[in-house]
Amino acid sequence: DKIQEERLKYLTDEKRIKAVTVLFSDLEGRLHMLDYDKKFLLKSYDNLTFDGSSIRGFTAQRESDLRLYIDWSAFYWGPADIFGPGKVLVFGEVISKEGKHYEADVRGVLKTFSETLHKKEGYTLNAANEIEGFLFKGEDAERRFHDTHAFEYVNTGGYYHSLPGDPLRTFIDTTAEVQRSMGFQNEKDHPEVAPSQFEINYSYGEVVAAADQIQLYKLICRQVATKMGLSASFLPKPVVGVNGSGMHTNVSISKGGKNLFWDPKGEEQLSSFGWSFVDRILTHGNDICLMLNASVNAYRRLDPHFEAPNQIKASPTDRGSMVRIPIGNEKSMRVEVRSVGPDANPYMVMYSVFKTGLHGEIAKIKNLRQAERYLPDNIYTALEHFRLADWTTKLLGADVKGRYADLKQASADRCARLLGTVVKAPEVQFH
Ligand code: GLN
Ligand code: MG
Ligand code: MG
Ligand code: MG
Repeated sequence: DKIQEERLKYLTDEKRIKAVTVLFSDLEGRLHMLDYDKKFLLKSYDNLTFDGSSIRGFTAQRESDLRLYIDWSAFYWGPADIFGPGKVLVFGEVISKEGKHYEADVRGVLKTFSETLHKKEGYTLNAANEIEGFLFKGEDAERRFHDTHAFEYVNTGGYYHSLPGDPLRTFIDTTAEVQRSMGFQNEKDHPEVAPSQFEINYSYGEVVAAADQIQLYKLICRQVATKMGLSASFLPKPVVGVNGSGMHTNVSISKGGKNLFWDPKGEEQLSSFGWSFVDRILTHGNDICLMLNASVNAYRRLDPHFEAPNQIKASPTDRGSMVRIPIGNEKSMRVEVRSVGPDANPYMVMYSVFKTGLHGEIAKIKNLRQAERYLPDNIYTALEHFRLADWTTKLLGADVKGRYADLKQASADRCARLLGTVVKAPEVQFH
């Protein structure tokens, strides 16, 4: 198609580009990257294969060969000081032997879902994420945690509090500048409530691009931090006694440029379409929890004393509720899912939120939006909900659902074994 043609021409003409980094994510959201020499890629882009058996949650050994298609619309220029010289980045799509989107590549699942809805209903799915993280001393703070049981802050600031030249401010400034150079539409960035905590916001986007940008955001943050001899961490609750890090997921749906969530006469100015979206999320709040809070550590964050939700309800103001309806206008009206942790697979987060909001059921619970119902407070409870729910089978299919649950079970068990308890310490995941 046209975009492909344009990109291929760009690659051919642009002599400075030597290699193309193709990115895709495993079932748990860990980002994988492989580099193709530009000349090779220009010849072979429609016949790329790789061994899926070494990627977590992908194929079994005996059926390990998978194809990799290039999504030319997801194309980013890679600044040399971060990615090495002469590179561009492009997201890949994992394709099975039969030529279909491979079902454990959730990016492909999300893309198919969003394209189908666009064709059938004219919907555009929009998402904006507020991704919080911590900046810690040392290049390998997460790895070292297992020995030292401590993270060291780089500053003691707090909400909106930093001085020019302070390492947190320098980190935020550099990250924002790298994002701009890659085409992110930055909006605002600031130190968050906890010491050494940050949040760098950029504009909403179509759902697949938004999820890609979450992956890039975390990658850029980690690279910038490493260059400073520091670590960027997206553990949901690395330090007890202070706020954890969330990935508030703001969503809306538009049609023909009109925001379908806006109704000036609606309750909180959210349309009835928007409210039914909320009701479906609340109904399945427990079912999809493991997909939004995907690690042992994520459950330690869900504490309203630290501005993180623990209740399955909706509110315009109460930050202890899973869903919040922020004040907005015709353009910005949206629903904010606050329970999401920054270490979840972003494609799975988007897919489960939109699919549930649109196609889930609405429970006949009295006062569904305000009833006192709690999110799981540990991963084992979340696993049980996830395994038992028919809804998660409909979302992922029995096979992928089983694989995902098994991976989460294994990491929960590993954590419990290592530490002799289910809840004590963070499970460190690298992605
Ligand atoms: N850090 C909080 C959370 O875990 C959010 C705080 C905020 O954005 N005001 O979700
Ligand atoms: Mg924010
Ligand atoms: Mg915040
Ligand atoms: Mg928020």
